[in-house]
Amino acid sequence: MISGKVFLLPAPTLAADWTEKMSRRVAEVENCSVRVGRTFTVRSEYYNSSRLQYRGEDILYEVCTQRGERSGRVVALVDHDCYGASLTFVFGQASLRGGCAFVALARLRNSFWGKPPDDSLFALRVVKEIVHELGHTWGLPHCADPKCVMHFSNTIADTDRKGPAYCAICHSKRNSCGGLKPIP
Ligand SMILES: [Zn+2]
Ligand SMILES: [Zn+2]
Repeated sequence: MISGKVFLLPAPTLAADWTEKMSRRVAEVENCSVRVGRTFTVRSEYYNSSRLQYRGEDILYEVCTQRGERSGRVVALVDHDCYGASLTFVFGQASLRGGCAFVALARLRNSFWGKPPDDSLFALRVVKEIVHELGHTWGLPHCADPKCVMHFSNTIADTDRKGPAYCAICHSKRNSCGGLKPIP
């Protein structure tokens, strides 16, 4: 069994060196080992053709299945626009007890909002959303501090306002909620 690690499962559209760079940046924030795992492809049956989006709960279930018996955390990077059961879109979703999560990349790109591409802004947004979803897998709820990475992003402006790191309170909760210990 592999323990004490975070695995990023990249979408097939992502360049290997880019995903490696993301893993290093997430490792700096989380202060733990982050590795790139195998490619994660979203099944076509999760697509809702009337919404032009993929259903988040199905993707999350699939990620959790792929995590299997690993004690580390698994975060899939999904290069699609996704929605949730009660949400018109999601930047990502996490299983609070399953140690698995995904980040939906489509709305993190400026092009989605009709703005000129900005690779460094896109990368920063991706890091924030990965850390946010990882925070949920450590058991952290949303945080009221708009600068904290655990603040809920209702809009892309919320994501841009917050930093890529945990506030002091979330940081201490994260340590006390078990850090990288296996989920019971
Ligand atoms: Zn959240
Ligand atoms: Zn916080």
